[in-house]
Amino acid sequence: MPSPPSEEAIIEALRGVFDPELGSDVVDLGMVREITVEDGVVTVGLALTIAECPMRSQIENDTVRKVKAMPGVQDVIVRTRAMTKTQRTELMNVARRRARDNAAPTQVNPTTRAIAVGSGKGGVGKSSVSVNLALAISHLGYRVGLLDADIWGFSIPRMLGAGARIEADAETRLMQPVHVLGIKVVSTGLIVESEETALMWRGLMLSKALEQFLQQVAWGDLDYLVIDMPPGTGDIQMALSRMLPQAEMVVVTTPPKNAQKVAIRVADMARRSAMPVVGVVENMSYFETPEGRRYEVFGHGGGRELADSLGVPLIVRIPLDPALGAGADEGHPVVVARPERPASAAFADAARRLVELVPPADAETCTGRIAKLLSALQGPPNDLPAPGGHAVGGAATRHQP
Ligand code: ADP
Repeated sequence: MPSPPSEEAIIEALRGVFDPELGSDVVDLGMVREITVEDGVVTVGLALTIAECPMRSQIENDTVRKVKAMPGVQDVIVRTRAMTKTQRTELMNVARRRARDNAAPTQVNPTTRAIAVGSGKGGVGKSSVSVNLALAISHLGYRVGLLDADIWGFSIPRMLGAGARIEADAETRLMQPVHVLGIKVVSTGLIVESEETALMWRGLMLSKALEQFLQQVAWGDLDYLVIDMPPGTGDIQMALSRMLPQAEMVVVTTPPKNAQKVAIRVADMARRSAMPVVGVVENMSYFETPEGRRYEVFGHGGGRELADSLGVPLIVRIPLDPALGAGADEGHPVVVARPERPASAAFADAARRLVELVPPADAETCTGRIAKLLSALQGPPNDLPAPGGHAVGGAATRHQP
């Protein structure tokens, strides 16, 4: 029987075990907490993000397979445990930085706060929230961009009454966002001229279109980039978090409690792509009469329930407001055309709250420094602390080309 492998050799083997959700190997992610070799029996201690991690058995099986294949190994024992909250946060940071390292550079400044607005299904008011929230944030004095990542289902140009077309700069060849009501806007609807061009775009993968909007649009210096995500979960969220690792998500939902199952899926997916969920926006929460009486037409408590189950704040409850729908149809967003309406007041509150939760990256503040640090980390070999500081062969020992 050959002699058992060294700890270093086992670590190398474990680099072939990937956490498919986080897109990195378990060593890099600092999940390997213990390695012992005794009489040919290798024990590997793994810290998983959550105890009931759906990928648990896959990671365990891969670990056993990889290590057992090594000469001199008779048996493999995998011990898993859940990370602490702090370790999990650290791990997410490592995953985000990894994603950043592997991402192609975008035209979005690393100090720009990216807020992806998502929902489990269509029709909950995700685009209405994106538009009015972006405008309300700009009313607070910030430089705001609005990216319509709902590539085929775009409704933003209509909601903003945007007639101009996106043009490319002759020199830089970058697309220039359209300026509407004080914000910079990009949408497929501002590019396609005819059905033929629309068809051409339809041939592109969703994530490829998003990539173009991030890499080939001269966004300039923005404090906030609001991204209207296509409804549902999936590749586009993964793609966004890979290309724009600073992106965070706001989940829009409606009051019925049974609507939360689909909403939670989108939040879950965001987290698995290392995209933190900032908070929940409940839309169509109630109807308010001119006398101030409130009717909860669609039920009660869905937004609160979702926020609690995600452990994030309920940012705002936006009332049903006919002025909002009318404004969207006519291209006059309610926060601009009817600032006195209840929906407009709710959006102003939401913008203030969001800016508190995700403060602008002012160069003079900690956030600014961290952002700079993160962008510096984008360069070659990065020395990252391992999650929890005690991981075996953690990220700090790994040098990327
Ligand atoms: P999504 O992007 O989730 O598909 P939209 O923003 O397009 O949803 O909204 C769907 C419809 O509901 C639109 O006609 C919109 O005007 C209307 N709507 C959204 N939110 C409200 C609200 N708070 N009050 C009244 N109508 C609303």
